[in-house]
Amino acid sequence: MIRVSVGTAACLGLTTNRMDVYPTTAYLLSGNRCQMNCAFCPQGTDSNEALSRLGRVTWPEYSWAEVEKALACVEETVIRRICMQSVRHADGIVSLLGQISRIKTTTNLSLSLSAWIQDEDEATAIFAAGVDRISISLDVVKPEDFRRIKGGSLQDRLDLLLQCAHRYPGRMSTHLVCGFGETEAEMLSTIDKLLRAEITVALFAFIPLRGTKLENEQPPAVDSYRRVQAGHFLLREKVTDFSTFQFEDGRLVSFGLPGKELKLHLACGTAFQTSGCRDCNRPYYNERPGGVIYNYHHRLSTAENAAIMNEILSSVNI
Ligand code: SF4
Repeated sequence: MIRVSVGTAACLGLTTNRMDVYPTTAYLLSGNRCQMNCAFCPQGTDSNEALSRLGRVTWPEYSWAEVEKALACVEETVIRRICMQSVRHADGIVSLLGQISRIKTTTNLSLSLSAWIQDEDEATAIFAAGVDRISISLDVVKPEDFRRIKGGSLQDRLDLLLQCAHRYPGRMSTHLVCGFGETEAEMLSTIDKLLRAEITVALFAFIPLRGTKLENEQPPAVDSYRRVQAGHFLLREKVTDFSTFQFEDGRLVSFGLPGKELKLHLACGTAFQTSGCRDCNRPYYNERPGGVIYNYHHRLSTAENAAIMNEILSSVNI
């Protein structure tokens, strides 16, 4: 059996549920209940939440045969990538390699893997099995918060990510979550370091989820998240350099660009869309339908972008 996000299941015709919006990446979830105990995750060992939850999303189980059949038929204009998200398995990557092989014999779609791997040799085995990109999720950018929220050493995970990025340039990704008490300066300096190592960054906003240790905490302020998104975009597109950003008490107060230039670069709205591997739109991973949208899974309308631009331009020096 394999879990499939409910939006993916609808897109692949595995369920008759209708969705407001469909994913452009097929999200699969390997494993039940993680060996890790991240305080924000419903799959953590101490979480009381159902095994069918990861992030805000529900992941019903299907047989491999059903999923393979659906993936073999899906058109590339509908689904353009597969992302296998994996809990930390008791057997390391053994069962994961078998699942990757099943996917690769079924479809030629690009395959991303987001998993806990322990060393470069595991990354090598996973790439050899046919995965195009691996994400080692850091999630938390402050060492003390990393220890408290995820357990273990941020430096160790960062070192592994950087080593893999050195060995496999342009093929590594990571997930970073805003809202665990880090400042905008701390988040953006980490993003800068990762981008310089050719690591793709997927930005998330922390969402407190029922049944997790952090269920009573607050998500990040939207205006702060927007400044981080904008900063990430400007660094990623090499519009400007981290050294031009100015901060006061950790809050970004200037991108170091004149207002006119800033507007020009942010006008397309890409900065506020879901970031990460190409074609990954993660609809409603971070938001409730009708609520605040942290990551837009579609191109922004003129009105949506104008509202965000006003918010940003009024919150920084230009
Ligand atoms: S950015 Fe998207 S496709 Fe890439 S690993 Fe993360 S969730 Fe998967």
